[in-house]
Amino acid sequence: MVNRHGYRKCRSLVDGITLPRPFSVSALVAQLAEQRNRPIEIGTLPAGLTVNACGAWLQLADRDVIFVEAKTTPFHRDHIVLHEIGHMLCDHHSKSADLVADLGRFLPDLSPALVRRLLARTSYTTDEEQEAELVASLIRITAQAQAPGAATGTLGELESALGLWSR
Ligand SMILES: [Zn+2]
Repeated sequence: MVNRHGYRKCRSLVDGITLPRPFSVSALVAQLAEQRNRPIEIGTLPAGLTVNACGAWLQLADRDVIFVEAKTTPFHRDHIVLHEIGHMLCDHHSKSADLVADLGRFLPDLSPALVRRLLARTSYTTDEEQEAELVASLIRITAQAQAPGAATGTLGELESALGLWSR
């Protein structure tokens, strides 16, 4: 479980970005790309390839690519993108040094076998997964709270759900 320190870190990361209004995941992606001065592309995994809840974020020399499953709901797709943005904002690096070289050779014609091999090597620690998930939730909640006519209290509900202030 994310501890108080991890929560504060994720909060300040999300507080540090100005969320687009009206909020949409694609608007956020465009804004982050501009801020980072690196294009962010959303790619689709080849059909028939299933990944876990975590999509994949691939750092190429000149851009970032976020891969999502082809067959999923718009909500889930948005969530995967936000989760990968979480890894990006937290500066998590997958333990796959030769990923970039591989992809440079194979993009854009990624075969399912290659992607499976790459994803197997794109592994994060449990803490990193939880932080990415928390950032995704915080972005969503913050965007909702900023929407016109939004109900307040959602952030407090998340915090108490995490059990952060009850100890
Ligand atoms: Zn992840």
